Amino acid sequence: MRVGVYPGTFDPITRGHTDIVARSLHLFDHLIVAVAPNPRKEPLLSMADRVELAKIATKEFSHVEVEAFDGLLVEYVRKRGAHAIIRGLRALSDFEHEFQMALLNRKIDAQLETVFLMPSEEYSYLTSSIVKELAMFGGPLEEFVIPEVAEKLRECYRRPQS
Ligand code: ADP
Repeated sequence: MRVGVYPGTFDPITRGHTDIVARSLHLFDHLIVAVAPNPRKEPLLSMADRVELAKIATKEFSHVEVEAFDGLLVEYVRKRGAHAIIRGLRALSDFEHEFQMALLNRKIDAQLETVFLMPSEEYSYLTSSIVKELAMFGGPLEEFVIPEVAEKLRECYRRPQS
């Protein structure tokens, strides 16, 4: 059984992320969506919320599990008995950082491959940051995220009533 790990911050999970999940399932029998704490990015949503929303966003797929992970990704992949790391590549701008990470992970574990998948064109510009910015200014969200995510973001940015 081929197992893939799709790691990320998922703050929040978008339709771009789920597009990559769907594509991964053409290559892997089982997919672990691994949610990283990533304090460097100062996530808006708590770990519990990010995991919960990722579970809801992927519930239509069988053979997908969502789990929080901490520490070294390579160790986690090994511990879970997975075969590859999956990452999404949107634009050229993603490439340099992803290339660095993939080579670094390979340095730590020479057997570990990183598989890059391209999303559908309509999601190639979509980032969690853009969605949060839209939410902050009351923009439309449903095209980019599931309703539960949209609701959570609106809740985060709702101004206290005076
Ligand atoms: P990270 O903090 O690890 O970059 P993200 O949650 O932003 O976490 O992204 C996780 C992975 O999903 C990354 O490989 C990222 O490039 C990919 N990704 C994010 N948004 C999209 C999208 N719209 N289309 C394809 N891949 C995406």
